[in-house]
Amino acid sequence: MSSSASSASSPTSMESGRAAESNHAPGPILLLGAPGVGKGTQAKELVKVWGIPQISTGDLLRANVAQGTPLGKVAQEIMGRGELVPDSLVNEMVAIRLLQPDTARGYILDGFPRTLGQADWLDGRLAAQIESLPVVAVSIQVNYNQLLRRITGRRNCPVCQTIYNVYMNPPKRDGFCDIEGAALVQRTDDTEEVFKERMRAYEALTAPVVEHYRALGRFAEVDGDRPIPAIAAGIVAAVERLRHLG
Ligand code: AMP
Repeated sequence: MSSSASSASSPTSMESGRAAESNHAPGPILLLGAPGVGKGTQAKELVKVWGIPQISTGDLLRANVAQGTPLGKVAQEIMGRGELVPDSLVNEMVAIRLLQPDTARGYILDGFPRTLGQADWLDGRLAAQIESLPVVAVSIQVNYNQLLRRITGRRNCPVCQTIYNVYMNPPKRDGFCDIEGAALVQRTDDTEEVFKERMRAYEALTAPVVEHYRALGRFAEVDGDRPIPAIAAGIVAAVERLRHLG
């Protein structure tokens, strides 16, 4: 599997197929970083490269909210305030998702773990699975002002999930998806006020998780203030390199 920029930026279906068939399993990959660094966007690029699933705890929680499940009812208010959903609930949700057979060759955890409690739970779970590869963690870095623009400008297509930004990557027709023509929506937690709370939660609870994985070794930092394909290429190269550590 090549780690060149081209395979990361625009993998053809043949390249994706090759990656999916490769004996070299990517294993569990953690994408870490503050709100708005592009974890979700990059996870989708990596899915194309490796053919392993993206597991976004934010997306799973929003699906629970939309379906009105008991978890969704608890999570809705907490998410609306920009705070973190309790570890026990999120861990259980992730445990259930990891039972799916599509995770056998690896998976991309996007937005998890976000606390040291979640990291301890995940590390313990992986240590108990002798066949599991060790985790590789990649932290994406973007400065605060850039994050604020990314978050407050973000709009999503409710049909195909394409992400736009009214400042940096606007749709051709203001307010509507280029692909589906659907009216774009803004996440209720993508306001400046809630962003500030999410950043506070990140600094207090998630920054120590980054340090935890940095200390464990299989860890890389990438500059997230570049074009999407360049960042993806950097992540692929880092994961390939870290996977070959002894
Ligand atoms: P995200 O889509 O990753 O920005 O997550 C949106 C919101 O979902 C966060 O602000 C939290 O309220 C909640 N959330 C997502 N992932 C987690 C997690 N691992 N632990 C606790 N809360 C989470």
